[in-house]
Amino acid sequence: MSNPNEPLVTPPDESLPAPGAFDAHTHMDIMGLPVDGVLAAARAAGIGRVVNVGCDLPSSRWSVSRAAEYPDVYATVAIHPNETSAVDASRDEVLATLTELAASPKVVAIGETGLDYYRDWSPREVQRRWFRAHIELARASGKTLMIHDRDAHQDVLAILGDYAPWPAYSVIFHCFSGDASMASQCADAGYLMSFAGNVTFKNAEPLREAAVVAPPELILAETDAPYLTPVPHRGKPNSPAMTAYTVRALAALKRLEVADFCATLQATGARVFGWLGCS
Ligand SMILES: [Zn+2]
Ligand SMILES: [Zn+2]
Repeated sequence: MSNPNEPLVTPPDESLPAPGAFDAHTHMDIMGLPVDGVLAAARAAGIGRVVNVGCDLPSSRWSVSRAAEYPDVYATVAIHPNETSAVDASRDEVLATLTELAASPKVVAIGETGLDYYRDWSPREVQRRWFRAHIELARASGKTLMIHDRDAHQDVLAILGDYAPWPAYSVIFHCFSGDASMASQCADAGYLMSFAGNVTFKNAEPLREAAVVAPPELILAETDAPYLTPVPHRGKPNSPAMTAYTVRALAALKRLEVADFCATLQATGARVFGWLGCS
């Protein structure tokens, strides 16, 4: 029998100093735990806001509903590249629904969209067509583009280049997975790099080198929960509270005081997600 007083998620060792941070990319719907408990644990860790990400229509709708319900939850809407072939037959209706959902003021980005050449759940040509449709929706709605890029760096950068110039703070690479050279390409283009818990993994030296190269004001921290749990809890389910570990790891790599790095993250978050203007 489970103990009702037991924490729902592993609490971090130490809360972040003020002004704290936020989880730029999470999937509370996939975590499957009560949202109140997940958010309470996050707040206790100094994580005051959570961006819940849509991967298909049900999870996009779920994100928009939770954002309406909880002041600290924000939403994104999209069809994940791996899910594109499943909805390709009803493309026009699906895009119309995404456009409607995107109009909600607490939808802060269009994503996750992009290219996934690691899995072959959807043909690459179908993924690329949907990526372009999402880019057009982001541009038409004035929302930030949140990219999923797995083993597809060159094609993602080339397609983004077709739509250049991009407004400042309007493109995020979620779970950034490039090396130092890609980080400097992204920095030159003004793209944001959102680092997940895998930046703390022992074998992630190229990713840490990328974080060293990335300008602090173009860095975000995320969990991608329930996946990619940072050290020292690697192997357990992830949750937004754990963003705190990734924030500390990034601050150390950038040789910044944690509180100063949190202030930079908060300024970047306000610019890229515009949540201070959300009602
Ligand atoms: Zn992703
Ligand atoms: Zn994700």
